[in-house]
Amino acid sequence: MESRQFIEVEDRLGAYNYKPLDVVISKGRGIWLEDVAGNRYMDFLAAYSAVNQGHCHPRILKAMTDQAKRLTLTSRAFRNDQLGQFYEEICSLTKSHKVLPMNSGTEAVETAIKAVRKWGYESKGVPRDQAEIIVCDNNFHGRTITIVGFSSEEQYRDGFGPFTPGFVSVPFGDAEAFEAAITPNTVGFLVEPIQGEGGVIVPAEGYLAQCREICDRHGIMMILDEIQTGLGRTGKLFAEEHDGIEADATLVGKALSGGFYPISAVLSNNELLGVFMPGDHGSTFGGNPLACAVARESLKVLMDEGLIGRAHELGDYFLKSLKNLDSPLVKEVRGKGLLLGVELLEEVGSARPYCESLMGEGILCKETHDSVLRFSPPLVISRQELDQALEKIAKVLRP
Ligand SMILES: *Cc1c(COP(=O)(O)O)cnc(C)c1O
Repeated sequence: MESRQFIEVEDRLGAYNYKPLDVVISKGRGIWLEDVAGNRYMDFLAAYSAVNQGHCHPRILKAMTDQAKRLTLTSRAFRNDQLGQFYEEICSLTKSHKVLPMNSGTEAVETAIKAVRKWGYESKGVPRDQAEIIVCDNNFHGRTITIVGFSSEEQYRDGFGPFTPGFVSVPFGDAEAFEAAITPNTVGFLVEPIQGEGGVIVPAEGYLAQCREICDRHGIMMILDEIQTGLGRTGKLFAEEHDGIEADATLVGKALSGGFYPISAVLSNNELLGVFMPGDHGSTFGGNPLACAVARESLKVLMDEGLIGRAHELGDYFLKSLKNLDSPLVKEVRGKGLLLGVELLEEVGSARPYCESLMGEGILCKETHDSVLRFSPPLVISRQELDQALEKIAKVLRP
């Protein structure tokens, strides 16, 4: 079948909840993707940072197929021989005390919300059903009813109410606004270190440290959504390290499986997860042995291949090079590590046509928040490949 036939079937039978670039990919390896016609592209989205280790990483592939031949799912009604090893390795790597595995990132967010609410009632003495969680304007934490209910993005909410109460939103990057919104019923502060979907918005240095201090002073759990920024993307294992802090709960997903499988987790640094008793929470697939085997190898690849340092080094180089392009179309270039955003000037309009031009040049990326081009290639990218991409980006952004 040709591209247009695949596209026609998708459009005819599928719900229209995405508007993808019209490229039908059939193969991937490292940073490279190939479409059904045999055209090659560099992946500059990396599935929103889920493929930090590169497409079809041979070691993760082997871990997955080896495990798939032995055991894939028991449910948590029984134990399995991968779960404990996964716990040990991820807790040791991330210096966490406890972990709760789920599947999608959204579920990790929901899990943290449940944990922090229960903690609020049991430990902080908040009256039943009165717990409040503070979130940030322009956030992205997923798509469930509860989560879109506290989104400030009109389209995410429109038509989907009524929503879950108990959330208050404050401007992102404004620690004073956060502190002013705190009440005796505030149990948690849920925030992204960098707002990825929100347009790669990087808060001022020290913002997270200030929020950490405020959380400590008011007895509030700090929940960092590192589903996109975590696991090397910003040049540190976690973006929180740029501010020298530790969250009470850190949410990971996406690259936890190197793109092979939906795996997420809540990591807790102070026994927040201790609130859960048998029956309080669960998931049929959460913590299954296949997921655990894949996650274990994905974390090892991240460390063994020095991908975090690479993201730091090449990210700095990429940021400088993008700034040096001096494009007449660009308002700002920003980001950390290999999570970069290029915001176009208002008069230039949508970034979408530029993504389409880049596709024509063999580079796949996606606009975010209409006017921002997000560049987040797999962390296995080489300097030479980056230079190759920069040439093409220059061609499109400096016409
Ligand atoms: C992708 C993402 C999520 C949701 O993860 P899913 O796996 O799509 O459910 C939540 N938070 C952030 C910051 C994300 O980037």
